[in-house]
Formats: sequence, C-alpha cells, structure tokens
Amino acid sequence: MNTYCEICDEFKDYEIVNEETECEFNGKTIKYDGKVARCSECGSEIYDEEVLDYNMKQMDHMYREMMDLIQIEEICEILQKYNIGKRPLSVLLGWGEVTVTRFLDGMIPSKSYSDQLKQLLYGPKQMRRLLSENGRLISPVAKKKVQKVLAEMKSDLTSKLEVVTKYLIGKCVDITPLALQKLLYYVQGFHIVFQNEPMFEEECEAWVHGPVFRKVYFEYRDCGYRSILQDIDMNEIEKALTEREKELIDSIIGSFGCYSGSVLEAMTHSEIPWIETRNGLERDEKSDQPIDLALMGLCFNQLKEKYQMVSYLDIAEYSIDLFEKVKRPISFSK
Ligand SMILES: [Zn+2]
Repeated sequence: MNTYCEICDEFKDYEIVNEETECEFNGKTIKYDGKVARCSECGSEIYDEEVLDYNMKQMDHMYREMMDLIQIEEICEILQKYNIGKRPLSVLLGWGEVTVTRFLDGMIPSKSYSDQLKQLLYGPKQMRRLLSENGRLISPVAKKKVQKVLAEMKSDLTSKLEVVTKYLIGKCVDITPLALQKLLYYVQGFHIVFQNEPMFEEECEAWVHGPVFRKVYFEYRDCGYRSILQDIDMNEIEKALTEREKELIDSIIGSFGCYSGSVLEAMTHSEIPWIETRNGLERDEKSDQPIDLALMGLCFNQLKEKYQMVSYLDIAEYSIDLFEKVKRPISFSK
C-alpha cells in the first residue's frame, strides 16, 4: 500500500498495525483494540479511511458494552428472529416509525430503549405481549408474519431454565430477582456434582452482583429489588420436572431460600467460581464472562466431599456454615 506521507513529504508505503487505543466518548474513557496506519519510512500515522471506519466501529462496540447497551448486530438479530421490518418493530414498541431505523444507522439508544429491545432478544414473551397490545397498528401482513414465527417457536416452558425459574417463583412465594438468580446458581452447581451434568444448558455469567443467567435477568428486571409477582400454574410446572429434580430444587429452597438476595449475593461472592471468573476485574466492573461449568463442577465437588454430602438434604449444612461466614456482625447499641 502506498500513500502520501506528510512528514516524509512524498509517497511512501505504509502498513496497518494493531494498537490498543484509548479515547474519550460521551464522558467515558474507552479502551479498544484499534488499528493504525503507519508510514513504513518514518513511522508516523497516516490517514486511512478503512482504518478510521474500523476504529469507529470498535469504539462504538466497546462503549455499548461498557454501558450495557444493545449492539447494532443484536438489533438485526431481532428483525431476523421475528421476521419483522424495522418500521413495524418500531410501531409495535410504541415508538416513532423510524426509531429502529435510526438505531440501525448507528444512533445509540438510551438505556430504556435498549432494554426494551434486549427483552425481545431473549425470549418470545415480550413479543407476544407487544403484538397483543399494538398488533392492530401494523399491517395485517406484517402481523401475520410475526404470528407465524411465534407459533413455530418453542413454548417458553421447554427450556429447563424457564421451568426451574417458574418453580422457584411459585414455591418461594416471596422472591426477588437477585435471590432467584442465586438459587438457580446453586441448583446448577449441585446438579452438576450429584448428577454429573448441568441442569441448564444456559451458562451463568459472573456479573457484579453475583452469578446471573442473562435470559432470566431480562425476563424479571422490571421487578427491580421487589419480589416477583407472578401467577404460576404449579401443576403444569411440576409435570415438566422429574421427582429427582424437584427434590434438588426443594432442598436448595430449604437451604438457601430463607436468605435475602444480598446475603445470597455475599455467599456467591465468597465462592471460587465467581471469584475466579472475575479475576482481575474491579469490584464494580461489568463483565459478561461465563462461569465455566468445569470450574463449578470442581468447586461444588470439593464442597460435596468436605461436607460428605450423600443426599440433597446434606446441602443444608453447607448453607448454614456459609451464612456464618458472610453474615455481618450484629452490634447492639445501648
Ligand atoms: Zn513518512
């Protein structure tokens, strides 16, 4: 490649190299793996449109990741997933007709707009709701196409994660999204060591407040720190689980269900899988790093051995010890 170098004041060869780049954007410092075009002769930076384009994309991607905002590719994924156009999608969401188009063109959505889109990414429930609320606003053809996709999609209850989530909500009566995530995590961990395989195919990620199953997070995020209020048909849910599975979940509820979300958070923060997965990250640094199943297996196996667990009921002893370890000392003032 050959171009004019201002420093050498003549046409020179140049090469494109990878360079970690840092820049300020919307008041945030963003680090990303960028590229730089350099003159082969003097090493000074040379303008190259493709490089500039590449860096803009990288920066945009990193910024969205930092701010937990939806990526452009994910918006495309939604359009494909539901076989819907950008305008009808905008209308279904109750937005201006061209809003989604603008987002696809690179405009960065607000957190609230982004979260509404993300809900569509992780399950058909939200799309079903939008279609029943706003379906009359889009063309019958567009509506039919989405309905066809929804009909072909597996029911929400075919995923084991979904079933166990509903079972926990139904059984615990009073459970916050934070606590729910932790109980799912313990179900997964102890299932791996007692049954030699994970209960859910979905991986959980080592977020700031502990292990999180992403799909479940977006399903219940509207509840915030409040309890999840949902009518659950327990008959239907119980049919989707084996006796052995129910035994495990009941034992997790018995051992951990009595603790608040923040106590459970402290518990998972004291365990190796979360700590190791977040190795090198700041306390409040966002991460979507999945917690490795082998690592979970290893750690929960050590617990199984240490506490000589033979049946699911033996998990209780561990939870009591763990609570002793993480509880804050109570001080009484006179
Ligand atoms: Zn030069």
